[in-house]
Amino acid sequence: MTERRPAALAYIGLGSNLDAPRDQLERALATLASLPLSECVACSSLYSSSPVGPQDQPDFINAVAAILTRLSPLALLDQLQALEQRHRRVRDRHWGPRTLDLDLLWYDGLSHHSPRLTLPHPEIFRRRFVLEPLAEIAPTLTLDGELPLTLADRLEDQTLSRLGE
Ligand code: ADP
Ligand code: MG
Repeated sequence: MTERRPAALAYIGLGSNLDAPRDQLERALATLASLPLSECVACSSLYSSSPVGPQDQPDFINAVAAILTRLSPLALLDQLQALEQRHRRVRDRHWGPRTLDLDLLWYDGLSHHSPRLTLPHPEIFRRRFVLEPLAEIAPTLTLDGELPLTLADRLEDQTLSRLGE
């Protein structure tokens, strides 16, 4: 069941490093645009990043999308996890390769902590592959009082490149 609530702005991080990652992301972005009670309002470029954690896996393709949604945070997470399943994501090793990873990065400025959902996503601050695409579509968003690009600039040791069309 979804409740009737005002539209909230949410940012979603996408990542893939298996089975034609660029296709995985482009399909996922199209599906995000058609989530129930939601509309996609912005989408970053695609980026390529070296894996965090185990290095014996392909590079990732990443992007960030902004949606306006009337889904609650948990209902949105349900939708994101169902979409991961449809891309046949198999959860085996932590930070291991995956066909599709969808993270709810930020939802209407909410701070929340429960077993299934932490907001803002706790890894945002440590991931250049999230902060740079976020800076592209939300340059004035503040995270703990700082801009995404300011936070990203501190992570220059992490390899990231913006892909062309
Ligand atoms: P990671 O994205 O860090 O590689 P996973 O995608 O495997 O890890 O996430 C594992 C769990 O994280 C999920 O079971 C989900 O319930 C939980 N989780 C907590 N907060 C969030 C969030 N903001 N966005 C997505 N998943 C979250
Ligand atoms: Mg995830």
